[in-house]
Amino acid sequence: MPIETDVCIVGGGVMGAATAYSISRMSDRKIVLLDRYGLGNEYCSSNDVNRVFRFAYGGDQFYTEMAVESLRLWKELEKETSQELLIPAGLLMLEGDDEHANRFNESSFRMLTKLELGAHIYNGPELKKRFPQFQAGRAFFDPHGGVLLAAKSLETFASEAGRRGVKILEKHVTKVQDKSGLEIETAEGQTIRAKKLVVTVGPWSNGFLKDGLTGMTPTRQQLVYLKPSRDLERFRPSSCPVFFTDYHYGLPAAGINGVKISNKELIDPVDPETARRSVDQEQIEQCRDACRKFVPDLAEGEVVQTKVCLYDMTENSDFVIDRDPDHRDIVYGYGFSGHGFKFAPLIGKLLAELVLDIDPSFDLSRFSVQKSRRKPQLTSGQLGKGE
Ligand SMILES: Cc1cc2nc3c(=O)[nH]c(=O)nc-3n(C[C@H](O)[C@H](O)[C@H](O)COP(=O)(O)OP(=O)(O)OC[C@H]3O[C@@H](n4cnc5c(N)ncnc54)[C@H](O)[C@@H]3O)c2cc1C
Repeated sequence: MPIETDVCIVGGGVMGAATAYSISRMSDRKIVLLDRYGLGNEYCSSNDVNRVFRFAYGGDQFYTEMAVESLRLWKELEKETSQELLIPAGLLMLEGDDEHANRFNESSFRMLTKLELGAHIYNGPELKKRFPQFQAGRAFFDPHGGVLLAAKSLETFASEAGRRGVKILEKHVTKVQDKSGLEIETAEGQTIRAKKLVVTVGPWSNGFLKDGLTGMTPTRQQLVYLKPSRDLERFRPSSCPVFFTDYHYGLPAAGINGVKISNKELIDPVDPETARRSVDQEQIEQCRDACRKFVPDLAEGEVVQTKVCLYDMTENSDFVIDRDPDHRDIVYGYGFSGHGFKFAPLIGKLLAELVLDIDPSFDLSRFSVQKSRRKPQLTSGQLGKGE
């Protein structure tokens, strides 16, 4: 028996779940959310312990303003569900040798100052006093940085959507056809007839795109969780901020007894069907080297967990949030280029607005699905790669 619905969302990572949550909050539409591996699966990009939240976006006022709005929505969700999802910690951008990273940090500071968002500079001795875990000649501080509990956030969006009647199914979509209405077919032999379709399949998006639409490149990213060699409590978010170094970023121990470190410069294009899901020893050593320079107590720490996740990179790292140019009932949300999680409640809302034919609350022209309408490729480091 075909399933009849108003909205079918394909892809149950954080963006699909946040969209289902938003549509179910804003309307009484019937919604079906499909994921080929089930929600919170090990292959998606959304199911890790934690993710960075930050206002700091270099000189990019647009993303900074989106982050401000997103923070408001995270707080609203926390209040509504009585769940802690975003743990305040601040973001410390440590000055190093890489000129792109230093430029990003400095322009973030200038933008946050211009928008009166409370940025701060620490010189070496001040840094040592305020955050003795770190060493650098200088550092910029974004007080609104924090740690998002990622897997918990995904689960919260999904359970709130489920509570409002969204049907969540483990199904692998193999075909979408327009037969006077959208027909979505799955590998399990299920047909879903929908008035609207939302495609939020992250690194698998290319399989859903026609020629002329913006593609994305899935890249393999490697995460290492290190337990400090002494005094783990000094690395909790209450005393340790999120941090950026030349080529790495780190998150304090939240949701796990280890500090997450990852290389933010890694470009390793892969096929999501065959990507190797284990971490290379070389990456662990590089994380240790970065710690030796900037966070010495982590350098010899025990590896408590590792993980591989895929970014879905567009050419200029800008998202795709748009309707299909030839079919207004198909809405795309992908290309979150390794920095989308912090915006999940806002992206869910924007995709919901497109589905419900409401004027979007942010100007989406920058996020066009049409190649010809997008900005040229960015120079390295402009948005802060990933995270
Ligand atoms: C290592 C890493 C670190 C990151 N760090 C940060 C950070 O610190 N801060 C930040 O803001 N962002 C960060 N990001 C980015 C953020 O996590 C992603 O932008 C976000 O999780 C993407 O969510 P999504 O729902 O678009 O995709 P996904 O979570 O990948 O979900 C897509 C889903 O689609 C399903 N699917 C695929 N094909 C089909 C099909 N044919 N039928 C049905 N289902 C299908 C998959 O099973 C999957 O569950 C990071 C990403 C990675 C990989």
